[in-house]
Amino acid sequence: MKIGIPRAFLYYKYHYLWETFFEELGIEFIVSPETNKDILNRGMTYAIDESCLSSKIYLGHVEWLIGKCDYILIPTISNYASSGTVCTKFQAIYDVVKNTFRDKDIKLINYNIDVKNSDFEVKAFLKMGRFLGKKNASCMRSYLIAKQAEKTARVMDEKYQEQLLDEKKIKILLISHSYNIYDKYIGAPIIDYLHDMDVIPIIGDLANKKEAIYNSFEISETLPWTYNRELVGSIVLYKNRVDGIILLSSFPCGPDSLVNEIIIRRVKDKPILNLILDGQEGTAGIETRLESFLDIINFKKDDYSGKI
Ligand code: SF4
Repeated sequence: MKIGIPRAFLYYKYHYLWETFFEELGIEFIVSPETNKDILNRGMTYAIDESCLSSKIYLGHVEWLIGKCDYILIPTISNYASSGTVCTKFQAIYDVVKNTFRDKDIKLINYNIDVKNSDFEVKAFLKMGRFLGKKNASCMRSYLIAKQAEKTARVMDEKYQEQLLDEKKIKILLISHSYNIYDKYIGAPIIDYLHDMDVIPIIGDLANKKEAIYNSFEISETLPWTYNRELVGSIVLYKNRVDGIILLSSFPCGPDSLVNEIIIRRVKDKPILNLILDGQEGTAGIETRLESFLDIINFKKDDYSGKI
């Protein structure tokens, strides 16, 4: 028995949880490789044109896994109750994959989070473990260990980021979904570029989730999407400790286009750069915009310190 995990979308949010859960249950798994041009091209051939770049990448990873495992893990996330709902892609992706690859020999394993209707994460994982032939007690034990591993990893990430926030160098807050910013093909080149320019990237997605959600109401009381709310809240938590903010979205993302507009209108005291990733080859255009943005930030810094 081998589970295939697409290295895209919620992998970046939940990989500690998923990988530890399967490891503890003694179930083998395979994760698709880092995104590359070939995986993106595969995804593009299956996705409809209107899909966002992130979901095209996701389909490319699913296609890569076909024939290499027994089941491909595709969770369905509907809502997290009071903290909000999610983009419809996460509610629909299971059906999208099932239909897109209906002619291929593909078997999916799914779990469903719908907190409003009492489908909690723990219940979903126990059900998934039982489907894989494991006993309830063993599933519960594996889930609890996986939750602890996830918590430990998040606390370590937060602590590391706190250290970075105390550094004296220029710091830029990156507001982007984890599946965009950590993707080797579309997001990582931006992090690499900032490092090359001796700038410290601060990742909004690494902020403490509960604190971020709580603080997000300072910018918007009505935002419906949990993941966007977490990112918006991270701006409130970090903005006084960074020199500028980059909003990084994949084309054409509906939720981000609305949320970015709200951020630009309501966060007035920091320079903001809005970057849209479209998966086109080459980063020259993006680098030019990043360079100009850093010039503005350096200019402001020099101005305040009386050098100009
Ligand atoms: S939030 Fe945007 S990028 Fe993410 S899945 Fe939805 S449309 Fe795509």
